[in-house]
Amino acid sequence: MKVTKVEVLEADLSGRDGMASWKVVLVRLHTDEGISGLGEAGMAYGTGAPAAGPMIQTLGERFVLGADPFHTDSVWEDLFRRSIWADGGGPVVFSAISALDAALWDIKGRALGKPVHQLLGRATPNPLRCYASQLHLGWGEDGRRLASPAQYRDTAIQVRELGYDCIKVNPVMLDDEGGYATGLRGTLTPAQRNLYRKRMEAVREGLGPDVDIILELNALTSTNGALQIADLVHDLGILFIEEPTHNNSSHAHLKMARKSPVRLAIGERLYTRWGFLPYLEEGSIDMIQPDVCLVGGISEAYRVAHLAQAYDVGVQAHVCGSPLATAIALQFEAGIPNFDIHENHAYTMRRANRELFEEDLQPKNGKFAVPTEPGFGMTLRTDAEKDMVKYSVELPK
Ligand code: MG
Repeated sequence: MKVTKVEVLEADLSGRDGMASWKVVLVRLHTDEGISGLGEAGMAYGTGAPAAGPMIQTLGERFVLGADPFHTDSVWEDLFRRSIWADGGGPVVFSAISALDAALWDIKGRALGKPVHQLLGRATPNPLRCYASQLHLGWGEDGRRLASPAQYRDTAIQVRELGYDCIKVNPVMLDDEGGYATGLRGTLTPAQRNLYRKRMEAVREGLGPDVDIILELNALTSTNGALQIADLVHDLGILFIEEPTHNNSSHAHLKMARKSPVRLAIGERLYTRWGFLPYLEEGSIDMIQPDVCLVGGISEAYRVAHLAQAYDVGVQAHVCGSPLATAIALQFEAGIPNFDIHENHAYTMRRANRELFEEDLQPKNGKFAVPTEPGFGMTLRTDAEKDMVKYSVELPK
């Protein structure tokens, strides 16, 4: 079997159902045996999406066209070593490598009639524990960003009643009117700390005592500010602080880890084994959060997970993308020995996002069943595909 065509598909859903900026970038690899596979670049949010599609097309043309989809490791090494720019990291090149690698795994699964977690050598697990992620963005099909502590409490009650026993919330991202906050990088003021404390108290009140809380900071704060917040709210029972400060320094996290009363989790903006290694060696991180659609695909996420296992660190895949990203994360998490908890992002429920695919992957009672269809088991909806921007490159006939 060989790859005969690399097709990029883009859906710009920005502004729909409460998603401010949302551009899904997918790849579909076609083969000479009529089997195709799907992958996704993990940059639907933020500002990177316009660069991802052309990068997929360029790397796909150079290193994937003509390849045997079963040679995932050989193709990965080519993408990594021969693209020049992957050796050093970065989201554009790695989201593209990730999308291409995942699509190859999808083809392998479809060709063998097996879900990807079984190709990774693991039996299908019981439904995975998952948490309701990013409560501050609002929960539901068309959720709206939260502002007042009362809104945080009501949303916490809403997700507790859905059966979750863990949530994640960022109390600093939004200002007191629900707009994106500024002035977060220095020492935090009493007024800021007062608002964050009230929001977190409201969340704990809404959840009751039997639900875990992950406190998200999205690398918005300085180490000093993150330590202020850790001191401010640790008595409310915080499981992890996620991305306390900027991702360009393992030393900042080591400093944070030495002083923080709460354990730390990061990983959504790290790439490859080499990106995670200093954090693991220094012992600053207690849970890693690689994004399969950014870290280097299924191939590299698997290697990162096993590297973390050697340091006795668990894995929660970062997930923030289309339903395909959810399917990819579930297959990866079911395919490793040190899975910890699955992230169910608020945007998983947004109508425009979930309507891209036939399959509507949603958890029940805070647990996510792992699909057992071949590959990732996902089918683009014909009407959704009709509205997508598509471009491709193929082998000469
Ligand atoms: Mg995060």
